Amino acid sequence: MSDPQQDSQQSNTPGSLLDRVKIILVNTSDCRNIGSAARAMKTMGLSQLILVDPIEMPNGQAQAMAAGATDVLANAKVVSTLQEAIEDCGLVVGTSARSRTLPWPMLEPRGCGEKMIAEAGEYPVALVFGRESSGLTNEELQLCHFHVQIPANPDYSSLNLAMAVQTLSYEVRTSYLLAHDKNYQERSTGNGKSVAKSKNEGEELYPVSEEIERFYQHFEKALKATGFIVENHPGLVMTKLRRLFNRARPDVKEVKMMRGIFASMERSSKEQS
Ligand code: SAH
Repeated sequence: MSDPQQDSQQSNTPGSLLDRVKIILVNTSDCRNIGSAARAMKTMGLSQLILVDPIEMPNGQAQAMAAGATDVLANAKVVSTLQEAIEDCGLVVGTSARSRTLPWPMLEPRGCGEKMIAEAGEYPVALVFGRESSGLTNEELQLCHFHVQIPANPDYSSLNLAMAVQTLSYEVRTSYLLAHDKNYQERSTGNGKSVAKSKNEGEELYPVSEEIERFYQHFEKALKATGFIVENHPGLVMTKLRRLFNRARPDVKEVKMMRGIFASMERSSKEQS
């Protein structure tokens, strides 16, 4: 079993959490959809494809649709029943384009991704997809712990099979990255405008408040040296700058660079006076 903390988004080595997520396609009639599903999976780092009693076995057309994911297709396991496909899984989620008469615990796609990743460390988990023509039967849906419905247009809610695989695989991947990838966590927080930050060995990424206070003091001193802030009439300049820099949240390297700029401002004003 993989150590979730050690899992990285690059690794799809055996044992990675994403390799414990099975995509199960039940009774698919068009093998081009199987190829496209394989491609959708690989783009999201998933590799375990299981085909339950496919009507058309993957052929050249499926390979063409799989493009760079022919390995996923080649490694697909073919079984004859859904029971067989899920026998080692501790969490099984069935997908459905429409609400069924049968009430069952429901998940949203995001919650589904989170649950899959939260439990994949314990046992294999599975997402089950139905037939192009009629979806999953009630008996098949009853083999699942939860159902998930992509909240599509109510007037036309039935996605192409491979696109449903893509959408839900994306949710699995983003949940995985949110839980286990520091760079992704960094990018996904805040207002969405932040850029990926990197730090030097032994250096904190963001300055502590004491350093930030020294930064503002230096800023003020430099602005006084240039005459932008008038000693006895400072106005609200520093408050506004604090608000601006607080919003930007400069990292240690950026603060260092700004301090260099302040020093050069001080030097040139001294030379001019
Ligand atoms: N006509 C079928 C839809 C089949 S679409 C029906 O009415 O059930 C083929 C498969 O794609 C579905 O079985 C399901 O696995 C998936 N799928 C399509 N649209 C979906 C949606 N909105 N939410 C979840 N899964 C969906």
